[in-house]
Amino acid sequence: MSRIAVIGGGIIGVATAYELAKLGEEVVLFEKNYFGSGSTFRCATGIRAQFTDEANIKLMKHSVERWERLEEELGADIGFNQTGYLFLATSEEEVEAFRANIKLQNRFGVPTRLIDMDEAKEIVPILNTEPFLAGAWNPKDAKANPFKTLFAYLRRARELGADAREHTEVVGLEREGDTITAVKFRSNGKVESVKVDAVLNASNAWEPLINEMAGLRRDLVPIKAYKHQLVKTEPLERGQAEPLVCPPAWEDAYIIQDGEDGGIICGAGIEHEAKSLEDVEPTYDFLRGVLRYAVRIAPPLRYAHVVRQWAGFYAKTPDSNPAIGKLLDNFYIAAGFSGHGFMMAPAVAQAMAELISKGRSKAPLDWEWYDPYRFERGELRSSAFQIG
Ligand code: FAD
Repeated sequence: MSRIAVIGGGIIGVATAYELAKLGEEVVLFEKNYFGSGSTFRCATGIRAQFTDEANIKLMKHSVERWERLEEELGADIGFNQTGYLFLATSEEEVEAFRANIKLQNRFGVPTRLIDMDEAKEIVPILNTEPFLAGAWNPKDAKANPFKTLFAYLRRARELGADAREHTEVVGLEREGDTITAVKFRSNGKVESVKVDAVLNASNAWEPLINEMAGLRRDLVPIKAYKHQLVKTEPLERGQAEPLVCPPAWEDAYIIQDGEDGGIICGAGIEHEAKSLEDVEPTYDFLRGVLRYAVRIAPPLRYAHVVRQWAGFYAKTPDSNPAIGKLLDNFYIAAGFSGHGFMMAPAVAQAMAELISKGRSKAPLDWEWYDPYRFERGELRSSAFQIG
C-alpha cells in the first residue's frame, strides 16, 4: 500500500481519491476551501459523448458507460438522467459538419443521428424551430447533479479509508531528484507535513501554482482561468427542455432544464480571462447576452424569471484538452478540463488511479493525446469542442 496525496477537492480529485481507495491505496485528499468550491459546483450538469475528435469521443463513450452504473456503484442518488444533447445547425455548412461528426461518433459506437425540426420539437416542446435546419441528437448524452455526485464519491472514498480534509491548503512540496517525498499543508493556521509515495495535482485552475511547488515551471502546463457564467430561471414544468440544447453558431449558447427543480439553466461561450483566481463575480453583460440567445432558442423563456446567476472557471490549456499524465517520477496531473471535467471525471479518475497505483491503465484514455508535456514540445491537439 502506498500513501498518495491528491491535491484538489473538485470532482476530479474526489473521484480519483475514491478510485485509489478502491484499489487499496492509502489516500490523503487536500482541499483548501470546501469540497466542490472550485469549478465543480458551478457547472451546468451536462454529460456528452458528442465530441469532434477520436480521443474525446472514446473517453466520453467510456465515461458515459461508467456514469450509467455510478448510482449503483456509489449506492446513492446522483440525479443521473439520459435526457440527451441536441445540437442545432443554422446553415447548410453546419449540417455538413454535423454529418461528418455523427459519422465519426457512430464509428465509435455513439448513437448520434441527424434529426429534422419536427422531431426536435417533439423532444423540446418550447423550441423555436424556425432558425434551424437540422439537429444532431444523441439520446444517451445526459446530465447529473454535481453536488450529489461529488458527495457520493466523497462518502464512499471515506468509507474505503480515504483521509479527506477540507479547509486544508497545500503550501509546499518536498522534492528529492525527480521524486516528491512530502506534502506541506496548512490547516487552522498550523503548517504540517506528511510523507508521501505519490502526488496528484488535481487543482484545475490553480495547477500552475502546485507545479511550481514541485519545482516545475508555471507555464510547463499553461492553464489559464476563463470566467464562465450561468443563469437559472424559476422552475418550469418538467419536459420543456430536458436535453441540453445548443446552436453552436450562436456563441455556443445553450439551455438545459435542471434535473432537480426544473429551472432552466442558460449558458453561453461568452468568456473573459479571469482577472484573478478570485474573480467569480457574475456580470450584467452576461445576463443580457445569454438571455437574448435563450429566448431565441425557446421563446416561452421570455416569461420566466431568473432566480440565480453565478460564475466559475473554465481552466483551459491552449488546445482546450486537459493535461492528464505523469510530470515527474511520482508526480501526476489531471487538470485543465475546460468545460468538460464533470462529464469526464468517472473515466479520468479510474484511468488516473490505475496509472498511479499499477503503472498502467486498461481504461480507453489516449495518454498521448492528453500528454501534459505536449505544450513543451509545441504540439497542440485540435481544439476540444467547447460548451458544457
Ligand atoms: P475544481 O472543481 O476546480 O477543483 C479544484 C480544487 O482544487 C478547488 O476546489 C480548489 O479549491 C482546490 N485547490 C486549489 N489549490 C489548492 C491547494 N493549494 N491546496 C488544496 N486545494 C487546492 N463540465 C462538464 O463536464 N459539464 C458541464 O455542463 C459543465 N458546465 C460548466 C459550466 C460552467 C459555468 C463552468 C464554470 C464549468 C463547467 N464545466 C462543466 C466544467 C467543470 O465544472 C470543470 O471542468 C470541473 O468541475 C473541473 O473539476 P476539477 O476537480 O478538475 O476542478
